[in-house]
Amino acid sequence: MKIERISVYRADLPMKEGFYSWSTQSHSAFDTTVVTIDTDDGVSGTGECCPLGPTYLPAYADGVRTGIATLAPDLIGQDPTQLDCVNDRLDDLLKGHPYVKSAIDMACWDILGKSASLPLYTLLGGRQQDKVKLYKVVTRTDPDAMAARITEYRAQGYRNFQVKVGADPLTDISRIRKVAACMEPGEVLNADANTGWKQHEALVVADAIKDLPREHGILVYFEQPCLTYEACLAVRQHTDLPFVLDECMDSLGAVLRASHDGAMDLVNLKISRMGGLTRARQVRDLCISLGLPMNVEDSWGGEIATAAIAHLAHSTPAAFQLQSSAFHEYATIDIAQGAPVVADGYMSADDAPGLGVTPIMDSLTPVAEFS
Ligand code: MG
Repeated sequence: MKIERISVYRADLPMKEGFYSWSTQSHSAFDTTVVTIDTDDGVSGTGECCPLGPTYLPAYADGVRTGIATLAPDLIGQDPTQLDCVNDRLDDLLKGHPYVKSAIDMACWDILGKSASLPLYTLLGGRQQDKVKLYKVVTRTDPDAMAARITEYRAQGYRNFQVKVGADPLTDISRIRKVAACMEPGEVLNADANTGWKQHEALVVADAIKDLPREHGILVYFEQPCLTYEACLAVRQHTDLPFVLDECMDSLGAVLRASHDGAMDLVNLKISRMGGLTRARQVRDLCISLGLPMNVEDSWGGEIATAAIAHLAHSTPAAFQLQSSAFHEYATIDIAQGAPVVADGYMSADDAPGLGVTPIMDSLTPVAEFS
């Protein structure tokens, strides 16, 4: 099988709640890139990469498309089902920039699944869990407004809440405490600063919320308080709260180092940050071997990226997948049909071959085509 054509599209994903805010950043929509790959066998695959704006990770939407334009001409004629060969080729053509490669790798996996008539979760290791637990983001805003969201999200079936903080630490303490007061025993509060605090601010917040598990019977996690790995490690050594590393877990080597240092209890695994499903699966399997549970997700996306998350999470043992995110639930438009079904705080992909999604071409703007 050979790649005949690579087509690139884009779309804006506007937020249902009007905005999405974390740390000191806020956006009303996210610019996503969709890739379709057509083969000489008539099988086509699709992938998606959606950075969370240009200043969240070292990734941005125009960079995805510029990078794909650099890679695509030299991928014509390659066999998309030979995933490691494809990834070696991508690395030969462009050093680094893993997020640029993610949608291409995802589309090749989709083709492999369709040509094998198997859902991706089977190819990624098997359906280890029938449904994937989700968290709901409580976007950063006024503390009382954030607390008011909990009842609404619980009515939708969610029990895991990712509370966006990482701004002014005293206001953030209020955000976390007010949300916690609205939660029920056994529920999960993930205080995610998305790198926003300085080390001294993170220490103040960690100390101020340390008693919430006992006060409310909830599970409280502390996620990526600071920008650098070293600052996160220092904070980690001063708190007993379960600790999640996200933004600085950008490679297999970073995960190994942090595991050796005892720097975290969980890893937030984002598919595009690793460079696609091939590399994310490698890190997923390493984390399982190291005994490290994960939040399996991506930076953002619509139905296509969410399907990839679902297949990777389905094929991860439940004990190693704390929670994932169904990002298509946050947007006002659909860019593909066949997305994982979301119900009662879980999502599940069906047994359709590949990713199981079909792009809605009316929702996508053509950007470039390579053949
Ligand atoms: Mg995070």
